[in-house]
Amino acid sequence: MLLTYSHQDHIQSYYSDTCNLHLECPPLLKRQSADVCVIGAGFLGLSTALELAEQGKKVIVLEGARIGFGASGRSGGQAINGFEDGIDEYIKQVGFDVANKLWKMSLEAIDIIDERIKKYQIQCDWRKGYATLALNQRRLDDLIAIEKASREIFGYEKMQLWDKAQLERHLGSKIYQGALFDSNSGHLHPLNYCLGLAKACLDLGVEIYEQSPVIDLRIGKSKVKVKTDVSSVIAKDVVLATNAYIAALPKTIHHGIAKKILPVESFIIATEPLDQQTADSVINNGMSVCDNNYLLDYYRLSADNRLLFGSDSSSEHNMIEVMRKNMLAVFPQLENVKIDYGWGGPIDMTINANPHFGRIAPNIYFAQGYSGHGVALTGLAGRIIAEAILGNDERLSTFEVLKVPSIRGGRLAKKAALFIGTNYYRFLDRYR
Ligand SMILES: Cc1cc2nc3c(=O)[nH]c(=O)nc-3n(C[C@H](O)[C@H](O)[C@H](O)COP(=O)(O)OP(=O)(O)OC[C@H]3O[C@@H](n4cnc5c(N)ncnc54)[C@H](O)[C@@H]3O)c2cc1C
Repeated sequence: MLLTYSHQDHIQSYYSDTCNLHLECPPLLKRQSADVCVIGAGFLGLSTALELAEQGKKVIVLEGARIGFGASGRSGGQAINGFEDGIDEYIKQVGFDVANKLWKMSLEAIDIIDERIKKYQIQCDWRKGYATLALNQRRLDDLIAIEKASREIFGYEKMQLWDKAQLERHLGSKIYQGALFDSNSGHLHPLNYCLGLAKACLDLGVEIYEQSPVIDLRIGKSKVKVKTDVSSVIAKDVVLATNAYIAALPKTIHHGIAKKILPVESFIIATEPLDQQTADSVINNGMSVCDNNYLLDYYRLSADNRLLFGSDSSSEHNMIEVMRKNMLAVFPQLENVKIDYGWGGPIDMTINANPHFGRIAPNIYFAQGYSGHGVALTGLAGRIIAEAILGNDERLSTFEVLKVPSIRGGRLAKKAALFIGTNYYRFLDRYR
């Protein structure tokens, strides 16, 4: 997979064709200075910029392509509480107290979306309701354990376990054994949310430069020089918000944190708009869903009743046809429905699915590795990085406790890890 990030327009997708804000920002042509320079205008970069601008900081955002060009403008749009692994797993890793703090922060991540949409009047079809689906009894047992831990240990009451019959009241597919429904997680139009965040930033005086790829960082005693291909920004603090594209950057910028990320390509197709009866035969309560396989399917209906069906287990080759087959395996009733769009992008996975937030120097911050939970966790990461820049790094330090193994070797090793990993996960999905 080629991770190119500079001088490009949005890829064509259902989202780019239905975006409701047409923002265009100039490239950086002259040297500038700021309190904070953020690299990357996806959810994380804009979230951090917004939090800092709300506190009166001068912020410059440098984006190599367009606002929302990366995963943020292409994702499934599902904002899900918790982390890729169940919260019970975190108790084993870091003990109850830290796991409890992490769990509470993951709930705050959803509240942040609620707050921002309300405060900045962002039109992005935000809708609550999300279900994790189990394809077999063992996977259902995993969901039972998550529900029990969330309720009994952390006092979370917004999840309900559904058996097969309860699930089939809302979802028109016979292939699942049950589900864990969460009434607080939800879904949105990710490009419109991203553009809405960008507009809020611009209104607060943040300067955003598009088509301005960063090619180097020079770290001085108290300032950092951030060089683009044309000019530069001098700032006291820098935030790396480049996500899976970090692999395409020189080591002088990423200082080795690219080794923590395995960019897994995921694809989404969008059907033509479904008539109401057909839409109801798919999902009749507005929820978004995701199965809990390792290589998973995730889907939801858009505001205009298209099925947006995503899958990690596909490949770029013949993508739309393969994805259509995946969709029909779940919803055979859509046999005669036309596919209008297909697109893909890299998901920032870590080897152990832990999120990876931290600093590569006292004044250079990053967050990545959300492992499929980035729609919600980027908002939180932006807030806690902003807190650290403003002098309180307590919550960032909590995330820094989580261990994330490096993937040794260069790009070839990553490709090999991805290949072996994908086949290993296929095996687990089939036989576990
Ligand atoms: C197909 C797909 C489906 C997904 N579905 C979901 C989902 O349903 N739920 C969920 O929680 N997560 C999902 N994700 C993951 C989620 O979208 C990401 O975790 C999240 O958007 C990451 O946001 P970000 O701001 O960190 O990165 P990005 O949105 O990728 O932003 C990084 C930005 O940095 C820019 N950049 C890179 N290098 C440079 C440079 N050198 N100079 C300047 N700019 C640079 C890029 O152009 C890009 O705009 C999905 C991802 C994909 C690809």
